[in-house]
Amino acid sequence: MERQYDIIIIGAGPAGMSASIYASRAGLKTAMLEMGAPGGKLIKTYEIANWPGIKETAGAQLASDMFEHATAFGSEYLYGNVVQIQDGTEYKKILCEDGTCYEARAVIVASGTKERMLQIPGEVENIGRGVSYCAVCDGAFFKGKDVVVIGGGNSALEEALYLSQFAGSVHIVIRRDVFRGDAIIQQRIKDNPKIHVIKKHIPVRILDDGMRVSGIVLAHSDTLEEMTLECMGIFPYIGQDPATSFLQGLDVLNAQGYLLVDENCETTCKGIYGAGDVIHKQLRQVVTATSDGAIAAQHAFHQLKGI
Ligand code: NAP
Repeated sequence: MERQYDIIIIGAGPAGMSASIYASRAGLKTAMLEMGAPGGKLIKTYEIANWPGIKETAGAQLASDMFEHATAFGSEYLYGNVVQIQDGTEYKKILCEDGTCYEARAVIVASGTKERMLQIPGEVENIGRGVSYCAVCDGAFFKGKDVVVIGGGNSALEEALYLSQFAGSVHIVIRRDVFRGDAIIQQRIKDNPKIHVIKKHIPVRILDDGMRVSGIVLAHSDTLEEMTLECMGIFPYIGQDPATSFLQGLDVLNAQGYLLVDENCETTCKGIYGAGDVIHKQLRQVVTATSDGAIAAQHAFHQLKGI
């Protein structure tokens, strides 16, 4: 009985923590179920500059403030790696990798996305030896060194700017001749003398000296002519994939694995909701994630109370 809740929220990023505030303030027995530290991508983001009311703040600070708020009304924080959700009658079962089973009358999936890998030779074996998917976590190890960032979206551009504080040089490699990231960040990239852009090149393989990364081989997108870039750090930021493998048994995902929800953030399985980056939508931002979390929790509250 101890493991029964009104609402279980899977994931404690901005969407999950916002849902936690709304559900627990409404008096529902609520828990967040998370496999890591609270904050989601916030804790891997150096600076947040589009959270209304605060012009600039560190991602880790905003995560910490949100967590304090998300647990202030009695919501519990549980550790667990969810492997399956079973859509029962009144209670849904949430099964974790360690065998623990939780039950909840409503489930809000706010599990976010995970970094896409390059899937080229030399990548996996050099993780932690120069290949990193988190500039905020590992950037300081590359003081004065040459590093390469792969990708031209907002994540790649923001993290390249962050890395330029430590690194000797930062090369950004994009496979087309245009960026995906916002114009304001593109301008900051252009203005930064430490950052150099290599257009129309794709990563082919990562080189190492037996101990750690020593360079990367790139091929021209059109001619396939190869060039080698010497570097000690490689930061791939080539997009995200939804963390939804535990939902495979339920018919709630689109072809890309994102969760399909209606205007109440509810899936076609009654009582199972989605919020934040994990759902199919256009704009993935902290502010839209928190909005989804609030909508899902409020609707779940109304359903559970029969309002
Ligand atoms: P993204 O916007 O999808 O950009 C991915 C980048 O990686 C693109 O430049 C893409 O190239 C490139 N790419 C993809 N696969 C590749 C491959 N195999 N080899 C080489 N390059 C590859 O991903 P993101 O930057 O992670 O952002 C995800 C979402 O979060 C976006 O909606 C973004 O706006 C949002 N976000 C917002 C902020 C902010 O507002 N401050 C910060 C971070 C993220 P192509 O362009 O050629 O496809």
